[in-house]
Amino acid sequence: MSRTVYVNGEYVAEEDAKISIFDRGFLMADGVYEVTSVIGGKLVDWPGHCARLSRSLNELDMKSPGSDEELLAIHRELVRLNDLEEGMIYMQITRGAEDRDFAWSDDLVPSIVLFTQAKSVAEKAEYKTGIKVISVEDIRWARRDIKTVQLLAPSLCKMKAKAAGAQDAWMVEDGFVNEGTSNNAYIVKDDGTIVTRNLSHSILHGITRAAVLEYAREAQIKVEERPFTIEEAQGAAEAFVTAASTFVCPVVEIDGVQVGSGTPGPVAARLREIYLAESLKKAV
Ligand code: PLP
Repeated sequence: MSRTVYVNGEYVAEEDAKISIFDRGFLMADGVYEVTSVIGGKLVDWPGHCARLSRSLNELDMKSPGSDEELLAIHRELVRLNDLEEGMIYMQITRGAEDRDFAWSDDLVPSIVLFTQAKSVAEKAEYKTGIKVISVEDIRWARRDIKTVQLLAPSLCKMKAKAAGAQDAWMVEDGFVNEGTSNNAYIVKDDGTIVTRNLSHSILHGITRAAVLEYAREAQIKVEERPFTIEEAQGAAEAFVTAASTFVCPVVEIDGVQVGSGTPGPVAARLREIYLAESLKKAV
C-alpha cells in the first residue's frame, strides 16, 4: 500500500514525491535527520528529538524549515494519514537545492522530507535473543555528535558485521569503543554499574541514551560515563545498546566472545521495561 509522505510543504503519495537532483542532501550529504518511534499512534521522546534537531541545524549553520510546533504537527498528521499504530517517522532536512558548488548561498531554502515506516518496535525477537556484534575501526568524520545523513561509513560497518554473522558493529577509535553503527553502546559491571562512553564530538548524543541514563539513576543504578575497551566489554557481566528504533537491546557476543552468560542480562531487561513504561507515559 502506498504511504502518504511529506515533501516541502505537501502531503503526497510516495510515488509522487520529488526532490531536486541539485539538492545538497543528495549531492553533498549536506543534511540532518531524526528518527522518532511511534507506539500506540504516539511519538516517543519527541522533545529530545526536536531539541537535537535544532542543535544539529545550529552546528551546521542550517536554517530550520519550521518551528518545533509545526514539525510536531507534520509528524502527527503523517501518523493520522498513514494510520500508523507502531513504527517510526523519519525526518530529513537538507540545506536546499542550487547548482553544484562546495560553497552555498545564504538565501538557500531548506528541503524537508518525512515518511513513516510501519514496524514492530516495542517487541522484537532480538530483545529476547540478544545480538552479536563485531568490532571495527571507526572511519567516520570527526563531528559524530551532529546527526548528519552521511551514513556510508556506518553502512559499510553494518555490512561487515552481517558478513561476519553478527547483527551490528561497535566502532572503535584509539582502542576505545565509540558506539554501534546506529546506537549507543553500554556494558554492565559485576556490581551492576552501567558504563557508557561520555558525551563528546566522538559519539551521537542519543536521545534514548539520555532517557535511559536518567531512568537508571532514578532507579538507583550506578552510571559511569567513560570510554571502555572491547576487552573490558568481553569480560563484562552484560552489554547492550540503545536507540530510538530499538530502545534497549541486549548484546550477547562481542568478536566471538560470549558476554556474561551469553544470554540477555537482567539489567538490560529492567532498563528496557522502565524505559518503555516511562517514555510511553510521556509520548505525545
Ligand atoms: N549512535 C548513532 C551513531 C546513531 O546513528 C544512533 C541512532 O540513529 C544512536 C547512537 C542512538 O540515538 P537515538 O537514541 O537518539 O536514536
